[in-house]
Amino acid sequence: MNIKVLIIPGDGIGREVICEAEKILDVVGRSYQIKIEKMHALAGGACLEEKGVPIEEETLELAKEADAVLLGAVGSPEWDNMPIKKKPEQAILKLRKAMGSFANIRPVKIFLPLINASPLKEKIIRNTDLVVVRELTGGIYFGEPREIREEGNKIKGINSLVYYDYEIERIARVAFEIAVKRRKKVTSVDKANVLESSILWRKTVNEVSKDYPEIEINHMYVDNCAMQIIRNPSQFDVILTTNLFGDILSDEASMIPGSIGLLPSASLNEGKKGLYEPIHGSAPDIAGRGEANPLATILSVAMMFRYSFDLGEIADRIEKAVEMVLEEGFRTPDIAGDGKAISTAMMGEAVLKKVHFRDGLTLSE
Ligand code: NAD
Repeated sequence: MNIKVLIIPGDGIGREVICEAEKILDVVGRSYQIKIEKMHALAGGACLEEKGVPIEEETLELAKEADAVLLGAVGSPEWDNMPIKKKPEQAILKLRKAMGSFANIRPVKIFLPLINASPLKEKIIRNTDLVVVRELTGGIYFGEPREIREEGNKIKGINSLVYYDYEIERIARVAFEIAVKRRKKVTSVDKANVLESSILWRKTVNEVSKDYPEIEINHMYVDNCAMQIIRNPSQFDVILTTNLFGDILSDEASMIPGSIGLLPSASLNEGKKGLYEPIHGSAPDIAGRGEANPLATILSVAMMFRYSFDLGEIADRIEKAVEMVLEEGFRTPDIAGDGKAISTAMMGEAVLKKVHFRDGLTLSE
């Protein structure tokens, strides 16, 4: 098997965590005789400094050509005052657009050894294992008209919440397909008591659900869902929702496991090519100190094998390796509490050892 992966470290801790994830990619390639062609590119502030733009056109072409893109994180306060088109974050929006990534997938799972790192009570979060499936290319972030307009002596800000039936249908299918391989439950989240776009959302999701009779479907208003995620997260299997609601709910759910440094994500297109990245940003407050938790990025590599390459066995192996190092007590500072913490590189090394231990391989092989 041959695969092409574009690797974009980005800024801040992005570079530190990608370094560890790339080692995992290499060792998996060697263990499973997968020929992994790696390409590297700049994006974000690093690209702005060298090339004057957040991302180059040729990088977008490479992303389209690749089977998967692995991204660290972009952004830093030093570029905060740039005009919007030159902000580092434009790199991600352009990548998503170039790749047609309409489906954002964020799993949220409790690692039992870290159960006390969560701000929520153990009895509430113990069985949390959910996936948020967020529509990524439609809705209020992209709807037209959008502008700030002067009206006489008043100023008006406008955004438009627009969804087409085909956009709802394709994201719903992604959610149902994921549910088929999990606990077979989809909770579709909308605001159909107030918004027309949500009425269409609910109707379309119900239509799609007819193709998946084995999946239990229920609908929930977004305000209730925000409450239920904190009250009883284990009731959810797959949460299917819009761009705006998913942005907020997935960040809320990300606090359940205890650190943003633990959560991976995937953004898939119709051909299942994906942009894989940790959900966190470039963390300028800890960048360069070797304190970043690389597990979210390593788990993003696991997602890559599961979703883009249909190699669940490899994904399981990487996820198991992460669980094992946590069980053995390895902790980066974000999850160490008052205990002993290790560096980004040491955490990466610990996972690496578990990943290839099972084949008896060594790094030099
Ligand atoms: P952030 O996610 O970078 O950091 C939030 C907090 O979490 C910080 O205290 C940070 O130290 C901590 N943190 C984040 N990742 C961690 C990790 N792996 N290990 C340990 N601790 C970690 O969010 P922010 O501070 O709001 O944003 C910083 C920059 O990142 C901004 O420029 C923002 O625009 C950008 N950003 C980029 C992305 C992305 O690239 N996808 C996402 C969010 C924010």
